[in-house]
Amino acid sequence: MSSTEHYQNYINGQFVAAASSNRIDVVNPASGELLSTIPDSNADDVNRAVAAAKTAQVEWARKPAIERAGYLRRIATKLRENVPALARTIVAEQGKVMGLAEVEVNFTADYLDYMAEWARRIEGEVITSDRPDETIFLQRKPIGVIGGILPWNFPFFLIGRKLAPALVTGNAIVIKPSEETPNNAFEFAKLVAETDLPAGVFNLVAGTGASGAALCDNKDVGMVSFTGSVETGKRIMAACAANVTKVNLELGGKAPAIVTANADIDLAVKAIRDSRIINTGQVCNCAERVYVERPVADEFLSKITAAMSATKYGDPLQDADIEMGPLVNRQGLDKVAAMVDAAKSDGVNVLCGGEVVADVAGHHYQPTVLQVDSNQHPLMQQEIFGPVLPVMIVDSLDEALQYANDTEYGLTSSIFSKDADEIMKACRELKFGETYVNREHFEAMQGYHAGTRKSGIGGADGKHGLYEYTETQVVYWQSR
Ligand code: NAD
Repeated sequence: MSSTEHYQNYINGQFVAAASSNRIDVVNPASGELLSTIPDSNADDVNRAVAAAKTAQVEWARKPAIERAGYLRRIATKLRENVPALARTIVAEQGKVMGLAEVEVNFTADYLDYMAEWARRIEGEVITSDRPDETIFLQRKPIGVIGGILPWNFPFFLIGRKLAPALVTGNAIVIKPSEETPNNAFEFAKLVAETDLPAGVFNLVAGTGASGAALCDNKDVGMVSFTGSVETGKRIMAACAANVTKVNLELGGKAPAIVTANADIDLAVKAIRDSRIINTGQVCNCAERVYVERPVADEFLSKITAAMSATKYGDPLQDADIEMGPLVNRQGLDKVAAMVDAAKSDGVNVLCGGEVVADVAGHHYQPTVLQVDSNQHPLMQQEIFGPVLPVMIVDSLDEALQYANDTEYGLTSSIFSKDADEIMKACRELKFGETYVNREHFEAMQGYHAGTRKSGIGGADGKHGLYEYTETQVVYWQSR
């Protein structure tokens, strides 16, 4: 980006000046270049957006779902017409590689189309009554105004993941993007403004966590749909308690990958390495720790170390031939470095990497593999969110399952094995919202991405994710 853009909130179909004059700088994590400034919206700005959404939602909900779906499809078309520019915006502010950013934009367009397909499938129920001449039925209705608060790691897709189910079911939405990666959300808003979506149905308010908190405090927000860290999720729950506002929380993870003695080791190495490297390890669902059975441990460790070491990294806007960009910001880099440094002090064996990259500009960390001896070590318990893979050797599948479940998270998990009994046992016993068998960790839009324990409440995607954006009304109809 050659010139610095100064974005404005998108409220009621207009780009408007914020009440707050404070601005936030958005920088490129690979080069440090200033990309844009965004408003640091205050409660007045947020409340204005919610009021616009509340008004617009009434007429929006009256439209047939199939008509609402048409608007989603027209937005999807706009996205597909602008993939290179949108991908470049994402890469510049977030640091992912170009190919992944293009996948993110195309996937978002597909997601809007997928949710649009539900328009003719939103169903209620007819229930038997205890009384003569009475019919009981359950219908699904929109909640009203949804507050969508986003993280920075898949910032563009997460707009779609919240907007599409919200809109097709008849809600209006106010999105608060991450202050780290807001530019792509403003570019999304510009494209929405080129469509005929009624004013106020989609609103965008930028700012820090305080803007998100104002969204949670507004009594006209019917549900806060949040994706981000556990700590922020807890604050959001506490804030939403004041108005008993529904929450949908997609939080952190500490996904275990189990490699048994019966695994295809090359397949396991590729899937786990890809899952750890994608988006520089900054993915809630990616393999964060490995348990490998002793008979195959040497082979697995030497192959995963070679595969991780071979990862090419650099500035994704300068080099198309890389697999990994920088971490999103200095805090992210410092956190990863501190965790590995502490592990080194604890005597943990570093098999490759283990250092901040000093000779390249940007927040880069070396792809790292460590062999850990205790499941209680912080590397096996705390979310790392970087290209760092701790591996522990175990003596049985039972031991692996016990360690895998010994965590406060419950988002994703995986098992690599050619033995059907082992796989079924793992599927029965793993206490996670998702289990991947002989493949990398990554969900499909028709699944249901829902973490248990501290990984969240509720979920996204598929039929179950769609219905999160509805509330039910049961009608008892006594005929004369
Ligand atoms: P974060 O919690 O720091 O911030 C997320 C958003 O919350 C930002 O927009 C921020 O401004 C806002 N926020 C901060 N304080 C707030 C408050 N008090 N009230 C309301 N909003 C507030 O998370 P992050 O660093 O942007 O994202 C990384 C985290 O997200 C990781 O833990 C990752 O595992 C998680 N994540 C989870 C999923 C999932 O589907 N489960 C997907 C992606 C990321």
